[in-house]
Amino acid sequence: MLEFRQVHKAYATPQGPLEVLAGVDLTLDAGESLALMGESGSGKSTLLHLAAGLDLPDRGEVRVAGHAISSLGEASRARLRRETLGLVFQQFHLVPSLSVFDNLRLQARLAGREQADWTNELLERLGLAALARRYPEQLSGGQQQRLAIGRALAPRPALLLADEPTGNLDEGTADEVLDLLLTLVRDTGCALLMVTHSPRVAAPLDRRLHLTHGRLTRPEVGQDACP
Ligand code: ADP
Ligand code: MG
Repeated sequence: MLEFRQVHKAYATPQGPLEVLAGVDLTLDAGESLALMGESGSGKSTLLHLAAGLDLPDRGEVRVAGHAISSLGEASRARLRRETLGLVFQQFHLVPSLSVFDNLRLQARLAGREQADWTNELLERLGLAALARRYPEQLSGGQQQRLAIGRALAPRPALLLADEPTGNLDEGTADEVLDLLLTLVRDTGCALLMVTHSPRVAAPLDRRLHLTHGRLTRPEVGQDACP
């Protein structure tokens, strides 16, 4: 589903190049879930951006669903994102001028009856059925993020990329939203790469990796256990 081979990425800064990824190797199979952990500034979001084809590596290869993203033009990368990937960020990405229903409906790659049925099913599963006619600003933070997760999963992506998806929520709400995300991911057979610095959030996923000094490592023994 996702493969990084000796991926290097540096940013130009006034102090000279800042090497963020220094030979990252990663394989994520279809349906598998992986937590990407690491300190603030360790390059987690950079890695996710590369996985989404929003940026390209300086060296090495990133493959998404078998496609080497560096060999694709911008339009093909955008298409791959649309057809294969779902993205969830810490900020809730919603269209403020659309109702809850339409925020979901317009992301579904379906038409007519099928589109309406799938949207209604998602609304139920997100616990937002009673709020279908509301607008995003009329929702709580947890409800907005549930809607954002629904939007990301509405096109039935094969891979969901999530960058600290519960980072803006209080702990109780974060747990609820995380449970929902993991349940939906499991039920749709979607693979998941989730950035989090919280061991508690990472615990239920299949695997955990740490990004340190530009490389991925397994957590120390003991750290990998559920808290
Ligand atoms: P994380 O998500 O783990 O907090 P990031 O991937 O956002 O880390 O950033 C890694 C490092 O790269 C940080 O030091 C950050 O300041 C720097 N960085 C991120 N994006 C850019 C950019 N566009 N230009 C210059 N430096 C950047
Ligand atoms: Mg980040």
